Amino acid sequence: MRKYIIAGNWKMNNDLGASKLLITNLLNGLVDKKSTEKRIIVSPSFVNLYPVNEWVKDSVIEVAAQNMHFEQSGAFTGEVSASMLKSIGIKTVIIGHSERRTFFNETDELLAKKVETAIQNELEVIFCFGEQLADRKSENHFNVVEAQLSKALFQLKNSAWNQIVLAYEPVWAIGTGETASPEQAQEMHLFIRNLIAKNYSQELANTISILYGGSMKASNAKELLSNLDVDGGLIGGAALNSEEFLTIYNSI
Ligand code: PEP
Repeated sequence: MRKYIIAGNWKMNNDLGASKLLITNLLNGLVDKKSTEKRIIVSPSFVNLYPVNEWVKDSVIEVAAQNMHFEQSGAFTGEVSASMLKSIGIKTVIIGHSERRTFFNETDELLAKKVETAIQNELEVIFCFGEQLADRKSENHFNVVEAQLSKALFQLKNSAWNQIVLAYEPVWAIGTGETASPEQAQEMHLFIRNLIAKNYSQELANTISILYGGSMKASNAKELLSNLDVDGGLIGGAALNSEEFLTIYNSI
């Protein structure tokens, strides 16, 4: 059965010292030393992946990369491959974050290639997607989400889906302080689960963790996470503060 996941996306924040401090505070504050029902993940920048992974290795905290290239290796200056991530013990990668789509022109077609490469390299993918404000205002949000998932994920074989975690992140709620209401989140998450059931099977759909992302914080996490189809959160701003992040984790 699917697990709850609380994942913190540190984005381009936290140098080495700040990463160490945040990890120390998380380790000290974690009540759960072992959990079979929920996971906690942090996602530092590329340069801090290795030390952070070392610091958390005897704990429940897992580490994910924020991005990767779709090629295995080659002349792609400034890029990082799936095998490089694997070689330092990273098992999970975030793909398709709205900031990658917006600032680095990552299209659904490109993201499909990244997902394919990650799967081939046995990495777990946290796949992000979600509509813009204009899409929601024009009531086109379900179509947009369906198109994003169809283009990037629905070519995958059944067996690949045990490496997929979904993160629905309405772009209008990311870093804006605006949050989807619990009803809006549940409505979209159920729609997404039904899409997987339609394209694969209900059985498979029931195993997929669907996270919500968009200004989730200590004060609204419980309400969002109490919805039947909200299986966790992808958290930006609030993941930079250990107390906030742990409160969200503990609210499950
Ligand atoms: C994100 O970047 O994935 C995110 C959800 O950010 P925030 O929590 O700051 O809205």
